[in-house]
Amino acid sequence: MPSLTQLEAQRRAGIISVSGYDVRLDLNRGAQLFGSTTTIRFIAEPGSETFLDVAPHELHRVRLNGHDVDPATHADGRLPLHDLAAENEVIVEATMAYSNDGEGLHRHVDPADGFVYLYAMSFLDAAPRWFACFDQPDLKAPFTLTVDCPAEWTVIGNGPAVPVGAGRWRIETAHPIATYFATLVAGPYHSVIAEHDGIRLGVHARASLATHLDGQSAELIELTGRCLDEFHRLFGIRYPWGEYHQAFVPDFNAGAMENPGCVTIRDTYVFRSRVTDLERAQLAVLVAHEMAHMWFGDLVTMRWWDDLWLNESFAEYLGYRVGDAVTEQQPWVEFGARRKSWGYAADRRPSTHPVAGNGAADAKTALNDFDGISYAKGAAVLRYGNATFADLIGAWTAAGAHDMQGWADVWLRTAGLDTLSATVEDGIVQVSRTSAVARPHAVSVATLDAHAGELHREPALILDPVRIPVTSVPALVLPDAADETWAKISFDADAWQRMPTLLPSIKDQLTRVSIWNALRLGVADAEIAPSLALRIVESAAEGEPSEVVLGTILGWAVDTLAGVYLPGGSVRADAFARLAAAARQAMTAATPASGRQLTGVRAFVSASDDVELLRSWLGDDALLPGMAVDDELRWAMLERLASLGALDSAGIDRELAHDRSTQGTVHAAKCRALLPDPEAKAVAWQSMLTDAGRSNHELYATAEGFWRPEQTAITAPFVSRYFERIAGTAGLRSGWVVARLALLAYPRTAVERTTLDLSEALLGHDDLDGGIRRSVVDASDDLRRALASRERFG
Ligand SMILES: [Zn+2]
Repeated sequence: MPSLTQLEAQRRAGIISVSGYDVRLDLNRGAQLFGSTTTIRFIAEPGSETFLDVAPHELHRVRLNGHDVDPATHADGRLPLHDLAAENEVIVEATMAYSNDGEGLHRHVDPADGFVYLYAMSFLDAAPRWFACFDQPDLKAPFTLTVDCPAEWTVIGNGPAVPVGAGRWRIETAHPIATYFATLVAGPYHSVIAEHDGIRLGVHARASLATHLDGQSAELIELTGRCLDEFHRLFGIRYPWGEYHQAFVPDFNAGAMENPGCVTIRDTYVFRSRVTDLERAQLAVLVAHEMAHMWFGDLVTMRWWDDLWLNESFAEYLGYRVGDAVTEQQPWVEFGARRKSWGYAADRRPSTHPVAGNGAADAKTALNDFDGISYAKGAAVLRYGNATFADLIGAWTAAGAHDMQGWADVWLRTAGLDTLSATVEDGIVQVSRTSAVARPHAVSVATLDAHAGELHREPALILDPVRIPVTSVPALVLPDAADETWAKISFDADAWQRMPTLLPSIKDQLTRVSIWNALRLGVADAEIAPSLALRIVESAAEGEPSEVVLGTILGWAVDTLAGVYLPGGSVRADAFARLAAAARQAMTAATPASGRQLTGVRAFVSASDDVELLRSWLGDDALLPGMAVDDELRWAMLERLASLGALDSAGIDRELAHDRSTQGTVHAAKCRALLPDPEAKAVAWQSMLTDAGRSNHELYATAEGFWRPEQTAITAPFVSRYFERIAGTAGLRSGWVVARLALLAYPRTAVERTTLDLSEALLGHDDLDGGIRRSVVDASDDLRRALASRERFG
């Protein structure tokens, strides 16, 4: 199906404007198909022609202004409409297919009780999979939805759902919406309803999650109310969409989607087991982020996808700002350690792009550029822009050449990551910047003594080298001590050698985040030996004050540092053992029942090869004071045991029989793929590459389990098969799942020159799907970096 181009969208918006959608769905037609009848009223240039977007299972009948249109003219997802009048009405009757990939109208059967749950995801271009439409963001219209479904179902959508008969519901939006925001959530969902400041609030989840939702709902609703108050205060415009529902839905690809009045959220955020502060903080920020979109994105929408960054950078920034204002969490620390790291990784890749104005030629290209740059870099730049806006403009004006346009040019319209570094000579600290464009950095420069005591700190605007006189020679100069800018911080080799003793003594959380980011970027650029990085993690993990940072760094050290940067064999085994020891120390020192303790336990489980110990913990709830082995922790242990060959297929079946939940099914899929057994790998491979019937998250879990650093001998035959077969998956599935699977299934543990050669050869095919291409470009860049590090440091 061709992706809508910007030119086509501009032409269509020049010819028509949409007055209203009236969509009728019949959800009483069985497990595969549903009825979809759409009536669209629209104004057009008389005599002109255009086309509708519709992806039906079967197109039955099309009437334009009272005349039949031949359904056979429908091709490639488009239905041409000729001889338009000034005012038009088109009626499209179709049978559509439910999806299992999280886009269009997704159907999930809960393995716990057999109940059926539906939700619609229209972003980015999936609306035509459930109703006929002019699918582009600037053709907004009032949207009315009528739904026939089983009488006992809950139905929610973009406006209040009004019963209009037995098993029939009607939903109308308060304002025009873009087609990509249209949604429907329907099924025997369990709901908690409340009210805040005259706004009706609802939280919803599958019936099998009812007790967990009930346990969490008071906190969620209070958080939602606080966020509403804060946005009312910030924006001065009242919440515009009537009711505010947050529906936790299964198999969701993203974290959440900002459908007006009805946010859909991945239902692993209904916590069925104990969680860390990180997960709580992420949920708080997510709630604030999606709510920010009710104004920024939903009420005001970008004209074309190349300005999607406007939505996401602002929502990301506001999500953290409001999360910071209304919770006890420290979301900016999480932002620094996790989100910025995600964005830095995107910004150093060959696929990097500017925050703004990427000129997405078509909708699919826009989806590929929807990454850590759109979110984290944009938000970091906006945060810094707000904080020091007047200083910045003043400095630019004094420099004589720059204005806001200049700021936007260097920060929003130019891709790439600058480097800040410092030198000390003759009592002068000099902080310099390297980059292709004149990009100023507002930072706090600090100097530390040999015991990590802070000697000096001052604000600086780094455009040209900045010189700061100091009275004694510092042991370390921190060019961005408060983690305020978007840049790679580079320390010299001597400074890194001192880091195992310095970092444990540094108390300032944002200073530590700045150093941890520098470490990860330095390792990725083959500037820091992985063995030294491992020593730094070992020495500084236990004393890391932030639970969020602790979990993030240990996770990186296990998966990336030990998993792919260090060579295999005894070196890796030793690294895993040392990381397990560091994690065990952190968990033992933590307060019983704290999130920090859970963070340590999880990291220990991911690195330990102590099968006896893990098995004994599985059978014993008294693992550690305050730490019960609940469902999610149990699966984490089972996954580790599976990867070590200490769990077999029958064992996985037995575990699944104890946990017949959606999450249990996903974990079991991962366990099966993790088994160090050629037959299990072959079955997992077959399902990833050829099975169109598996749901998206089962596929992701299978791919995540497939490649393990300890199993390179078993998975070696599959390396070339990936490059032979992955292109074909674009014909098997559609949407997000294609690119995501291509990324997760990439042979990331085959750190060899031949893997890069095979990647290059695949990328040489012009007809490769755009999403797969982007995934191979990114994954092969990660692999190239690991290889470069191994070549340099052995
Ligand atoms: Zn968003």
